[in-house]
Amino acid sequence: MNAKVWLIGAGPGDPELLTLKAVRALSEAEVVLIDDLVNPLILTHCPQARVVAVGKRGGCRSTPQAFIQRLMLRYARQGRCVARLKGGDPCIFGRGGEEAAWLQARGIETELVNGITAGLAGATQCGISLTLRGVSRGVTLVTAHTQDDSPLNWQALAQGKTTLVVYMGVSKLDEVQQGLLAGGLAADTPVAMIENASLPQQREQHSTLLRLCEDATRFQLRSPAILVIGDVVAEQTPASTLLQAFPSRRGLAPR
Ligand code: SAH
Repeated sequence: MNAKVWLIGAGPGDPELLTLKAVRALSEAEVVLIDDLVNPLILTHCPQARVVAVGKRGGCRSTPQAFIQRLMLRYARQGRCVARLKGGDPCIFGRGGEEAAWLQARGIETELVNGITAGLAGATQCGISLTLRGVSRGVTLVTAHTQDDSPLNWQALAQGKTTLVVYMGVSKLDEVQQGLLAGGLAADTPVAMIENASLPQQREQHSTLLRLCEDATRFQLRSPAILVIGDVVAEQTPASTLLQAFPSRRGLAPR
């Protein structure tokens, strides 16, 4: 097997949302590095591989990025086929591009494999169409969390007239709410909070920009979750196929 590193998007959680290309790459891998947000059920596609868990969530320190990169490099230099499994898409808040560039600069063949990013999956799983004729002509994906805590341009986001999908926002709800209100977004703009999108434990709560923080507290919103902000949320259609797939799922009714 030729040395190579696949940087693979594992999708939002539901193993059926994996791409066929990801399945093929996993079946070729000799070593698989798996992130926290990846559903371990996906490992059924690589029973032959050595699995290394990297990354911890929930207040623990993550496995340092430099360590993960060196580990991939070491395995690849041993001539092994390595798969790095990341939640969602590797290039949406996933450092996939950085890792590919770092490995390529060291002469390692790399290939990025798309995954379905949580923001797109979460909305669709809840029957929310992120673009909708006559309602929203675009989508903006943003993270509320940055390494250097630099502020977002909330005014531009508030006035951009696109649906906003906020990642990593659970601990930054105040900032999201205040930034968008100050930026001029209407207080009654509908918001959906979607936790554990595409998993059996998916939960969904509707609110408005004005009530976002208090509703999130009452709902006990936990990470991983995304926020969908915009008028498309009010146009939600019932996600009936989803309920058939996971009858145990308890979505709360829109407020
Ligand atoms: N590369 C990933 C994003 C990683 S950043 C992707 O494309 O989806 C981690 C953030 O993604 C979480 O804080 C949360 O905002 C979001 N996220 C990941 N999985 C999720 C899920 N199943 N449900 C809701 N949000 C999720």
